[in-house]
Amino acid sequence: MKLKVDDITADAREITFAEPEQDINRVLEQGPVHEYRLKEPVEVELSYYRSGMDLLLSGRIKARIAADCARCAEECETASDRPFRLVLSPKVVGYGEETDLKADDLEFSLYEGDEIDLSPLIREQILLALPTRPLCQEDCRGLCPRCGANLNRVQCDCRTEWLDPRLDVLRTIKLQRS
Ligand SMILES: [Zn+2]
Ligand SMILES: [Zn+2]
Repeated sequence: MKLKVDDITADAREITFAEPEQDINRVLEQGPVHEYRLKEPVEVELSYYRSGMDLLLSGRIKARIAADCARCAEECETASDRPFRLVLSPKVVGYGEETDLKADDLEFSLYEGDEIDLSPLIREQILLALPTRPLCQEDCRGLCPRCGANLNRVQCDCRTEWLDPRLDVLRTIKLQRS
């Protein structure tokens, strides 16, 4: 999605658009957290206006993010709904140093040329929204290390064997012999 700088006026405008997921997925695949992917376009609500040479963008980015659980490898999905605010100043040497728009809750960036490409901004927000490690649920029990059963769904037999103290003794003996 691109905005023409000339179309951004002092009157705030609101638009909603869908950002295609393909480019974002390409970035996700190449990035450090490649277990994430999007299955549908990202929904963006954007409002924008100009204040002098600065462009002010704000809105929400909504995405459904799919991933393989780090413990049980089941596919899981999280919904992300992230607000953003951004000030863009023209890339001119010396400009923007004394602007009073640099409040703490605003992200600050520069623009160049007569178009604003929103796609990199959206990709960045999606990356920021990702949990460091995908889990299907906070207390996912993972897979049984012996039989590979998904312990969220079944209680396999290995588990009881494992806890049987008599078998523990047998294992110790075996270890001592070898
Ligand atoms: Zn899991
Ligand atoms: Zn098992």
